Amino acid sequence: MTNTQEDFGRLPVGDGTLTKRVLKRCRDAGIAYSTKTEIIKIGRNRYGTKTTGYIVPKHILDEERSRREDELSVIEQKKAIERAIRIEEIRICQLNEMAAKFPHLPSSTVERLVDSNRKIYAASEVGYQFGVGTKHYWNQLGFTVSGEPSGIVVRGNRLYDTYSSHQLIPNNSRLTVEDLKHNWLRKYGTEELVLAQAIRFANRLQKVKRVSEFYPLKDRWIIGNQNNLVEGRVTRIETRTCWSCDGTGQYGDDYEQDGDFFENECWDCFGTGFYSSRTLYEHKFLIKGTRFSFHSYICPQSIVDEESNLTRQRFGRPFEKTELPVPPQAVIVNLIKELLPQLFPNDPS
Ligand SMILES: [Zn+2]
Repeated sequence: MTNTQEDFGRLPVGDGTLTKRVLKRCRDAGIAYSTKTEIIKIGRNRYGTKTTGYIVPKHILDEERSRREDELSVIEQKKAIERAIRIEEIRICQLNEMAAKFPHLPSSTVERLVDSNRKIYAASEVGYQFGVGTKHYWNQLGFTVSGEPSGIVVRGNRLYDTYSSHQLIPNNSRLTVEDLKHNWLRKYGTEELVLAQAIRFANRLQKVKRVSEFYPLKDRWIIGNQNNLVEGRVTRIETRTCWSCDGTGQYGDDYEQDGDFFENECWDCFGTGFYSSRTLYEHKFLIKGTRFSFHSYICPQSIVDEESNLTRQRFGRPFEKTELPVPPQAVIVNLIKELLPQLFPNDPS
């Protein structure tokens, strides 16, 4: 049997290993093969050839192809096993972490939590301060939820779906500003206290859904209430590093001119290295016997122990059970807009 009588087949390029093996066998056996090429453009008015395949004896091609296929399928199986082992290892880690976090839960529940692929919270990790709550909780704060639950909270032995504050839509409510004013006057006694409570409620709800017009109202109220201040504190000093000088305060090198020595101070920050700095304060008020506490960038009339009191503050205390359900945020803000000019007619702005 001569070469010319053999059946030939086409081996396209692509699998380098297969090509190498087939061509080596042809060469070892002294079988001539032909190379298929095509002309390609490799530049302006320049052309080259590119190998697209080889015409080789079919029996060599078939043998090497099936050998290569077997080889690849073994590699693929091995990879799949390794993948499965890795996934199982990760799962065991997650199960251990979850079991350590919730030691009282049965292992079947721990497995359910891990396999849910959702974020899991302890009861102390949910609330408006964290932007996470159950449907019922958000309802009590005046919102309905949209979309699928994004997490699960474990309360005792029971699991509840949670929704993030991004999923909230304000509830429709028929409550008017007049209704709320009437209800709260009965509950809190005076308009001053109603306004203070409205500021407190609205301030907390800002962490759920931000109403931009609230902060100027709050600041105005804080300024107007300085006569009720019982304590002012520095909560923290926030600084932003100057981008121009990267916080060094210097822009380029110092230089000498006409015998004078100049420090090349950064123009943007006047050499301080800080682009801006602002101080957050805590204002504690006593209004008609009730204590209130708010954070603001407004400086209090007096400050105690300015330096030593940069302690960790608790922001966003939970609402009391008796305060739920909370009136709609929009109605509270409108009540503030109504009462503020009445109680503080001298607009500081
Ligand atoms: Zn600077």
